[in-house]
Amino acid sequence: MHKRAACAAFDALNAELHEISDWMYHHPEVGFAERGAAEKLIGFLEKEGLAVQRCVGGMDTAFVGTYQGPQPGPTIGVFAEYDALPDIGHACGHNIIGAAAIGAAAAVKRAWPGLPGTIQLFGSPAEEGGGGKVIMVEKGLVQHLDAAMMIHASVADRVLTNNLSVQRMDVTFHGKTAQPAGSAHEGVSALEAAMLTWTNINAIRQYLKPDFYVHGIMSEGGFAANVIPDRASLVLYVRAPRGKDVDYLLQRVSNCAQAAALTVGATVAMAERGRRFLRMVNNPTMAGLLEANYEALGREVEPPTPRPRASTDMGNVSQVVPSIHGYIRIGDAEAIGNTHSPEFAPHTITEQAHRAIDDAAKAMAMTCIDLYAKPELLAQARREWQVLMEEESG
Ligand SMILES: [Zn+2]
Ligand SMILES: [Zn+2]
Repeated sequence: MHKRAACAAFDALNAELHEISDWMYHHPEVGFAERGAAEKLIGFLEKEGLAVQRCVGGMDTAFVGTYQGPQPGPTIGVFAEYDALPDIGHACGHNIIGAAAIGAAAAVKRAWPGLPGTIQLFGSPAEEGGGGKVIMVEKGLVQHLDAAMMIHASVADRVLTNNLSVQRMDVTFHGKTAQPAGSAHEGVSALEAAMLTWTNINAIRQYLKPDFYVHGIMSEGGFAANVIPDRASLVLYVRAPRGKDVDYLLQRVSNCAQAAALTVGATVAMAERGRRFLRMVNNPTMAGLLEANYEALGREVEPPTPRPRASTDMGNVSQVVPSIHGYIRIGDAEAIGNTHSPEFAPHTITEQAHRAIDDAAKAMAMTCIDLYAKPELLAQARREWQVLMEEESG
């Protein structure tokens, strides 16, 4: 009954939400600078009667909207993202994520006046670099939740996310400048050390376990072609399934850099930069509920991608609270490209994209309602989470 009411409540809001998503598309803002988008989302939540706390976790564009129902009960978090990519705008469809998330929270509040529990909408900035959710976890803002969820725009409807943990590492070599024609023996080329590091990484690549990746760029390689470079830098991303796999791979990459420095006679400085995104730990009970709700809306759920793809800071939330990170289809990959390709962006404001906002919001609202109605499912989700986390760290 409440689920039908939530869908009807959402239908009264959808035009407003399509407009908010389209506005974000036309005004893309990158991580931690999403001021316009945050204001739009906060404005909607306050209009819907949620109490909004701004600038949570010391982040200007992070917020939490809360509606506490009249009956005691669990607290469920729905996560919104709204940052764009540099140059290619909303090519990851975070405008859809943001609109669907606030729509879900509002629909739950409207549909169930006697709500036995609390719904919280987390405005989480900078998913594309920065990791607003990692900061929220570090600051202890999500640990009280009984469950957490979000839905990402995609080329398929899915309820399970198969992805990787990721850590950035910056490597800088220091050598000695010299005139390359005649006095090269007086110099030490930092550039040679950087290139040798790359070669060393390529030498171990084939012997790493499946789904272990090292990729990156050379960010500095000298300043003049007629001066032996005394400084060269690499920015590397190391991806692997578990946090401890990332630690192992960082050690291997560090060996590659140290060996290169030793060969050339340069010195090397290495530092982990940014926040580590952990892989998603999917909650089976919650995924089952989301799948049933997707099917009730006429969507066909596809299995997770056979190989892990990319990373998300929702993974860090999933490692402290039972969570799901679903996907909603806005078109076929052949027609609209994949996320992070420029052709994907304009497909986030089509009619199909608007339908995706509607169904993502409804499916999340219905999944929340399932959990409020049957708290024993949350207890089951918590038990599953404990077992999965033991495996994750084992
Ligand atoms: Zn992305
Ligand atoms: Zn994304």
